[in-house]
Amino acid sequence: MSEIDVDEGWRDQALCAQTDPETFFPEKGSSSADAKRVCDSCDVRAQCLRYALRNGERFGIWGGLSVSERDRITSALPGQRLGLARARRQTRDQAILAMVDTEVGAPVVAASFGVSDQTVYRAIKARRARERERLANTG
Ligand code: SF4
Repeated sequence: MSEIDVDEGWRDQALCAQTDPETFFPEKGSSSADAKRVCDSCDVRAQCLRYALRNGERFGIWGGLSVSERDRITSALPGQRLGLARARRQTRDQAILAMVDTEVGAPVVAASFGVSDQTVYRAIKARRARERERLANTG
């Protein structure tokens, strides 16, 4: 996710463009709830989040997530490509699950990664199955 995303057509539909931009860059320690509420209703949330993740935006609320929430997603992606299709899929699924854990809805997660909703649900189900298996093995 290091390439620069040049497709910025989504910005024309950005709901935040109709509000006070300061809301999206809250002071340290102040609430980002107002900005996140606007993002919840924004039609281009997925594109916005994808842009921020790809470009490593370090400030402000993008796609309904703060920088620390975005960091949790990108930290799930190792800096090197492993070369094997399965490993790449596992890496992608880890990043998908990190985004799911920020309570972004599955359709937004799917659009952010360019995958189907089913891929997101499959990753969630697979994680649940692994957790059940782990509990069964420790119980
Ligand atoms: S998701 Fe939020 S920050 Fe991104 S364009 Fe929409 S309103 Fe603006």
